Amino acid sequence: MRSDEGQTAQRLRVVILGGGTAGWMVASGLSRLLPAGEYDLTLVESEEIGTVGVGEATLPHIKQFNDRLGIDEAEFMRATGATIKLGIEFVGWNQPDDRYIHPFGAFGEPWAGVDFQHHWARARLAGIDAGSLQDYSFAVALCRAGGFDHPVTDAGSIRSSYSYAYHFDAGLYAEFLRGWAVARGVKRVEGRIIDVTRDGESGHVTRLTLAAGNGIDGDFFIDCSGFRSLLVGGAMQVPWCDWSHWLPCDRALAVPSGRVEPLTPYTRATARKAGWTWRIPLQHRTGNGYVFSSRWCGEDEARDTLLGALDGPVLGEPRLLRFAAGRRARAWEGNCLAVGLSSGFLEPLESTSIFLIQAALFDLAGLMPRAGGGIDPRLAAEFNRLFEIHYDRVRDFLVLHYRANSRQGQPLWDHVRTMALPDSLLHKLALFREGAAAPDYKLGLFSRDSWLSVFEGQGVMPEGYARLADRLPLPDLQARLSALRGRIRDGLTAMPAHADFIARHCMAPDHAGSRGNAA
Ligand SMILES: Cc1cc2nc3c(=O)[nH]c(=O)nc-3n(C[C@H](O)[C@H](O)[C@H](O)COP(=O)(O)OP(=O)(O)OC[C@H]3O[C@@H](n4cnc5c(N)ncnc54)[C@H](O)[C@@H]3O)c2cc1C
Repeated sequence: MRSDEGQTAQRLRVVILGGGTAGWMVASGLSRLLPAGEYDLTLVESEEIGTVGVGEATLPHIKQFNDRLGIDEAEFMRATGATIKLGIEFVGWNQPDDRYIHPFGAFGEPWAGVDFQHHWARARLAGIDAGSLQDYSFAVALCRAGGFDHPVTDAGSIRSSYSYAYHFDAGLYAEFLRGWAVARGVKRVEGRIIDVTRDGESGHVTRLTLAAGNGIDGDFFIDCSGFRSLLVGGAMQVPWCDWSHWLPCDRALAVPSGRVEPLTPYTRATARKAGWTWRIPLQHRTGNGYVFSSRWCGEDEARDTLLGALDGPVLGEPRLLRFAAGRRARAWEGNCLAVGLSSGFLEPLESTSIFLIQAALFDLAGLMPRAGGGIDPRLAAEFNRLFEIHYDRVRDFLVLHYRANSRQGQPLWDHVRTMALPDSLLHKLALFREGAAAPDYKLGLFSRDSWLSVFEGQGVMPEGYARLADRLPLPDLQARLSALRGRIRDGLTAMPAHADFIARHCMAPDHAGSRGNAA
């Protein structure tokens, strides 16, 4: 019987364990997306245990999440001290002083129905001075100029060729979503879970018991308990797929520093001897961290590296986080679904964790069980299929950054340059080298332009291109390339500085007065 045919009184009891970014994104998303009256949403979290609290850089998809919830952008940016992120600047990933940007935007545009990189590769191979792919991205130019304004909707304008994400204070974001979700009916329970009860026959989780002695009964449990993975890893014993042989960084030290000008509209990721440091500008401070491999670097050395890299006054003690790269073999097992760090972790190089939470939420919303129908294992199988695709694709992209380095003589970098690769990544490398083809997924991360930025930025160059590109006469191609560079230059005219944009639209109350200048 369908729930709209007489079961109006029956509601599926959904229990979310954990109130970090994952828990509150799931709670607020489900409260918005699911039909009112069919689900009871309860979230249990423990102040005593706390949250990871890092996770300050995002991908443009988060705007879709906020938009679907109906969250006002300026209100959200004020509440979380947010700034704009147009991409990531990678420093020293190939040779020590190299710089390139992975932008949230297109490289060039298709001509004669052929993707831009084929024209660019053809021009280079024909001896035309076509420059770098970076010269054909408006988002890259905007990062370099330190500017920002909302993209325009006129598809013919170069100022429509980019998207944007945010840097924000992760703790404030979880708090913001908590207020949002509780106001819309999510029940919040404070306390530490000390026991999990499972049904003897089905193996399904039926109850979580709190240290205070009371219990929370449920039909469907969402495990957002972070690295602890109390339900899916713990109670349900779903195995872990370890990827640390491909992604050997397993520690991070994080510390905030004072804000400095100019307010850059991008994250910076700088390669270091045994890993890389991040720099994330917020309105009220700068977030910094060193992600490193404990096999090649001790904590004291990592601390010195991190503190030595700061460009503003240090604002606290560095905090150590331990992790391993990998994912659960399955995120959904029985009546439990892991979302966030409880389902897996891929180091924060491309800010993918919050995206993976969002993807899980939307996939779940489409497959959500109904009250009275039990939990159909086919829903879990479909969710797990999508989960694998998401994680495996992100993994390949991250591994590419390590593999394609020329930092000779540094043990971590020598190791990752020569390690065996996943077959799926070998395939992508071969396709690009031989014919300039780059992945263009319909589902998940990353887009073709993202792959192109890292391929070229780290010295993987195409030796061929799609034959269809030959249809454009070479002089015509040369003229188009030059005109495109001109349009990008012209598009920067009168673009506000990032800090001015923030000051005008979304300045956090305690930070009024900080403004920057266009570069
Ligand atoms: C170094 C580092 C940098 C990162 N940077 C980024 C980034 O730039 N961008 C990005 O997208 N992501 C980033 N991430 C990932 C991001 O921080 C997480 O994906 C995000 O914070 C979600 O965490 P979570 O909610 O899954 O877990 P947590 O934040 O750990 O939350 C777990 C919750 O479970 C609760 N809990 C646990 N056990 C119990 C119990 N027994 N009883 C009751 N409650 C319990 C805790 O109290 C907490 O509320 C980074 C992660 C790390 C480690």
